[in-house]
Amino acid sequence: MMPAYDPNNIFAKILRGELPCHKVYEDDRAIAFLDIMPRAPGHTLVVPKCAARNLFDVDPDELAHAAKVAQKIAKASKAAFGADGVTIQQFNESAGGQVVFHLHIHVIPRKEGVAMKPPASEKEKPETLAANAQLLAAALKGA
Ligand code: AMP
Repeated sequence: MMPAYDPNNIFAKILRGELPCHKVYEDDRAIAFLDIMPRAPGHTLVVPKCAARNLFDVDPDELAHAAKVAQKIAKASKAAFGADGVTIQQFNESAGGQVVFHLHIHVIPRKEGVAMKPPASEKEKPETLAANAQLLAAALKGA
């Protein structure tokens, strides 16, 4: 059986404003912020505000809304980072590669011929994250 949603997970704390993040987008149902260990510059996480552990327990409408936000981020990252493509990833339970147990969608801007870094390999400098968040937020406003 799947464990219950744990309200003390790190993304729940970010949603409650108890921990900081480099926010790029927010509406009443979802937030998007930069991954602190990006697999490529501009790597963003889209997080629904509802208490959902992953794909198995999320309300389908909230999942659909998060997918819409991921699409916005993907389009904006082409303008913000000159991405030639975008990789979307979403992991469910430990066996599926999930580490943080609040549903999130990875949006990873990609350049032709440039491989992604391995997951959680390197913590990005806060000033680089801040600059990339600003670029992406500006591109989203222009979208
Ligand atoms: P996963 O659950 O496998 O999708 O992995 C969780 C992701 O969250 C990884 O890519 C981490 O780099 C990222 N991450 C962990 N803590 C934070 C944080 N405080 N802020 C932003 N991203 C984070």
